[in-house]
Amino acid sequence: MTARNNSPRRLVPLLSLPLPPPSQRLTNNLLPDAYTPSPTSLLSTPDSTPSLVRRARPVPQGAGFSYVTPLPLPFPYEFPAEQKEESDKEVSLGEQHRREAEAEGGGADADSAEARYERQMQEVERVMRRYEIQVSELDKPEYPAKDAEGLAGYLTPAKRAQTYPSARLLGLSAAALRDCLPNLDVGDAFEFIKSTSGRDGPDTYASGPMAPQPKDDAARARFQLSDVLAGRAVAAVLPSEESQLDDMAGCGVWARRVGQGWKDESLQQRWERRNGELLERQKQKTYLGWSNAYAGHQFGSWAGQLGDGRAITLFETINPENNERWEIQLKGAGRTPYSRFADGLATLGSSVREFLGSESIAALGIPTSRALSVISLPDVEVVRERRNVSAITSRLAQSWIRIGSFQLPASRSDWEIVRLLGEYVSRILFNFEGIPSAQTPDSPREKWATRLLFESARRNARMVAGWQAVGWTHGVLNTDNISILGLTIDYGPYGFLDIFSQDVTPNHSDEMSRYSYKMQPSMVLFAMKQLLTSLSPIIGFEEENGRAPNPGELASLEPEKLKALAEFGEATQRADLEEVFINTTMEEWRRRFRLRLGLKNAEEDEKGALFDPLLDVLEELDFTLTLRKLKEFPSILEENLKSAEGQEEGIKKAVESFSADWYDQSRVLAYLRDQKRDQAQGWLTKYAQRLLRDLGVGSGSSSSPAVGWGTSLREEMSQHNPRFVLRNWVGEEVIKRLEEKDDTLFLDRVLQMCLHPCKEWGQDDGSGKSAELLEEEARLCEIGEPLQRNMPSCSS
Ligand code: AMP
Ligand code: MG
Repeated sequence: MTARNNSPRRLVPLLSLPLPPPSQRLTNNLLPDAYTPSPTSLLSTPDSTPSLVRRARPVPQGAGFSYVTPLPLPFPYEFPAEQKEESDKEVSLGEQHRREAEAEGGGADADSAEARYERQMQEVERVMRRYEIQVSELDKPEYPAKDAEGLAGYLTPAKRAQTYPSARLLGLSAAALRDCLPNLDVGDAFEFIKSTSGRDGPDTYASGPMAPQPKDDAARARFQLSDVLAGRAVAAVLPSEESQLDDMAGCGVWARRVGQGWKDESLQQRWERRNGELLERQKQKTYLGWSNAYAGHQFGSWAGQLGDGRAITLFETINPENNERWEIQLKGAGRTPYSRFADGLATLGSSVREFLGSESIAALGIPTSRALSVISLPDVEVVRERRNVSAITSRLAQSWIRIGSFQLPASRSDWEIVRLLGEYVSRILFNFEGIPSAQTPDSPREKWATRLLFESARRNARMVAGWQAVGWTHGVLNTDNISILGLTIDYGPYGFLDIFSQDVTPNHSDEMSRYSYKMQPSMVLFAMKQLLTSLSPIIGFEEENGRAPNPGELASLEPEKLKALAEFGEATQRADLEEVFINTTMEEWRRRFRLRLGLKNAEEDEKGALFDPLLDVLEELDFTLTLRKLKEFPSILEENLKSAEGQEEGIKKAVESFSADWYDQSRVLAYLRDQKRDQAQGWLTKYAQRLLRDLGVGSGSSSSPAVGWGTSLREEMSQHNPRFVLRNWVGEEVIKRLEEKDDTLFLDRVLQMCLHPCKEWGQDDGSGKSAELLEEEARLCEIGEPLQRNMPSCSS
């Protein structure tokens, strides 16, 4: 075990990170997809349908997640040629059961299409089975657990084979390590990435069957990290004995459970059964990764059940420095039950964009999920508009629960499940006091629903205000892409605005510009209103009863009563929700603009008087660099005031001298240049007056600022106005250089710039950078090919 820097903390390999106590784990607090009700279910499906674990299908009512293991393989999976065509077809769960029943009954005649299909499916299953953890592996995992309750890393026979794809570690974020997993030992990963840059071949693999075998502890820690984060070694806590396995798993189980009378249960009976299950689950020590079930409005239309189609949470851990909870999730690690016929994979390009995008938004101080690593699988091809190498990002968030997670059960009127989810979020994620768990005795239960709604609304408001203030557009603000925690999640076709325009959307498939820059706050508010609707019967209940509902209580209410409660709940909060959201967004937006402009004191009408007119000036100009340049203005103002007759003249001179090269004139159409200059000068004059008011200059007050205030403001403003933002063309160049030259050094250079956006990139800081490097840094800060003419590709 090594210690990073001078921190005395003991570092441990990835699988030795501590899990939270059983009662706090997501999988013990929400209900699983009945197909795989427990981690051991995966081991118990050999003779039925292991592929169904990851096959696209509607999940039954109640399910908050499905247990699943990563399997990043070329898709469609390779099967014997004559059976390929049939096995590519998706089969509904119902159809599966019908066919199984028919096969069991032995009624199908040997040569019927159905029998042929059945044989083909069995072949599919035989192949799939080789990739699931196997009973025979239980007592000899590849990475043994550090103790009986810790995670072990399992390989399966097919993943041990030489033909299984090996993994190449492309990038790792030191900032994500520091902020989220300060106790993680990545071994020699950073050096490994450096030393393999610009080369290919087996010795550049960080893990997998083709990778060089690790020779020391540092190499072993890196190998394990890469093996797990590439989806090869599966993290789990499983019993070592076969006798403890769940014989209730799989498709057969589902049918058996229906047979046991689930079908005929009343809502209340079902809830009683589920609550009993939950009480048991709170103690469950076995553990396995999962994907979340959710729904959502996509581009304003209801899309029904969605879910983590290609994202798999590996495990949860706790940061020992601040007790913060983190979920480690892979994106692009293969299919899950929520894949909607897609392959579950991600292209190198989209993974690199997710990796750099999340770290870049984090460094700008905006709440977001984080990215730890990006790993390519050179032998796994992904077909989009063209053929791509696949890659997996590992991302971190306190939770991946979204607005759509609440919408799914609410759309099915499954209010008990909404309650469970809400209690989990309130208790474990928001740390509200006194929130009930499954074990909490009945009444009186502390209210949580309205609090949760407003907490989420405030957080999401602050998030979107942050985007607006740095000129960033998310691209796909569907309700399933909006986190309950107010984190920026799902980095798809996002973009930093370069040439500023309120109407820009980075997504060329968004023809209506629904998610354009100026629409973002309204779109996040739309999601908050959907959250209100999803919680409304519970909010109504809490208003009426002065306490939260007990388990089973909502299930016992008549539909008319629930409807009345929902209407009541919605009516009591709707106006407040809108007000709180808008006020919080505005407050945070103003706070961020004051920082950008070096202003200490708020002024009542600053939005209308100063900030909105600034955005008008910025139209057609480079958002980032034009704002960055403003930091030079205060010193120019201070100088001119010294030599001028009066304040008015000083301001006039400063404005004239600064405006001449404030922005790039060539970006403005020739016939509009005079107009733009007048507009810019008018704004600078108001800004100068405001600055002086803010500083108390010339107001006769005794607290006039010290000489040199212009220079101090310059320092402050340079901390709030990035010099570098991840422009679309920069991301494209990183991807191209990775694809063509395996240039991981360049990826790291751009990552460093993302992590320190406000540094004077391109200027000699005495650290001995070559002229060539400085030139490259400066180039990477430039506008390049602007976004509007170069939209991010949709191939993900
Ligand atoms: P998104 O629009 O990317 O947030 O995804 C919406 C739904 O489609 C979710 O259920 C995703 O998990 C699923 N999905 C999107 N892309 C893929 C993919 N390449 N493979 C599997 N599922 C996907
Ligand atoms: Mg999404």
